[in-house]
Amino acid sequence: MATILDGKAHADRMLETVRQGVEVRLAKGLRAPGLAVVLVGEDPASQVYVRNKSAACAKVGITSIEHRLPADTAQADLDALIDRLNADSGVDGILVQLPLPQGLDSKRALHRISPAKDVDGFHPVNQGLLLEGLPGLRPCTPSACMSLLAHHGVELKGIRAVVLGRSEIVGKPMALMLLEQHATVTIAHSRTKDLAGICREADLLVAAVGRPGLVEGSWIKPGAVVVDVGINRVEDEILGGRIFAQEPKKLDTLRTKGGVLCGDVRYGEAMAVASAVTPVPGGVGPLTIAGLLTNALAAANREV
Ligand code: NAD
Repeated sequence: MATILDGKAHADRMLETVRQGVEVRLAKGLRAPGLAVVLVGEDPASQVYVRNKSAACAKVGITSIEHRLPADTAQADLDALIDRLNADSGVDGILVQLPLPQGLDSKRALHRISPAKDVDGFHPVNQGLLLEGLPGLRPCTPSACMSLLAHHGVELKGIRAVVLGRSEIVGKPMALMLLEQHATVTIAHSRTKDLAGICREADLLVAAVGRPGLVEGSWIKPGAVVVDVGINRVEDEILGGRIFAQEPKKLDTLRTKGGVLCGDVRYGEAMAVASAVTPVPGGVGPLTIAGLLTNALAAANREV
């Protein structure tokens, strides 16, 4: 049976480090870090994320400044708000919650954020610094995954790592961070041939695809470490019956509640083959906010 890599416990450790860092600033007479969160429109999932971010900020002593704009906001008005936040000396980090409503260009908004305040690590300058292996603000989900792996002493040097998914926010930066730690990295994606065979070569398999239960137990090399970034809601009982065959509790929740959260990896099957696995929920999910607040403190301290 594999070890469960508890993301919630690690997120709490990361947040405690941030809280202590904020205290150090206050003891030096500096102000608390300020994180501006821009939410455009009424997307319910985004509202939940923003609420969670504000609550996490309050816990560690970061000042969270929310800016809510209507869904029909013009790009020029969003640009103007970002410009104001860039110029505001009380704001150390700026986060534009994605997705933006239709009609707004998210790349343009993200590129407008000052790289020094880009706590999501999505600005091309920060992505370029990561590519060069230089310090900069790095995307929160992959950097927090790296922190989790380091905490658990997972050896990366010389291993075969496979990253499933090539998004700008998870797959690509995760691959670069693993490469930086001397893993031999393969990035696999929707056009990859023989996905199962490639995954089976991985000592470390990171799944960031957004397809519930795509990775079967037979795709996992015995003893591999599996990091499941995917967060999916399954409501279809036929699909659930297939991917939760080894997880009767999940199947039960699906049947009684009409839906259940799961990752890209069939957790029950993975637990029987791998040496360590992140669960969903409770794995990578809680780490992302911890990574964000770590970046907000670093931006305030001008550490990157
Ligand atoms: P994305 O949609 O931008 O990218 C998905 C990637 O998966 C693409 O590169 C695509 O090529 C690949 N892909 C899609 N279908 C595939 C298939 N059948 N086989 C192989 N590859 C396939 O997604 P993303 O933003 O990187 O997010 C991926 C997942 O991670 C989602 O479930 C998302 O909700 C989750 N996520 C979680 C966190 C977190 O905090 N835990 C953060 C970000 C994203």
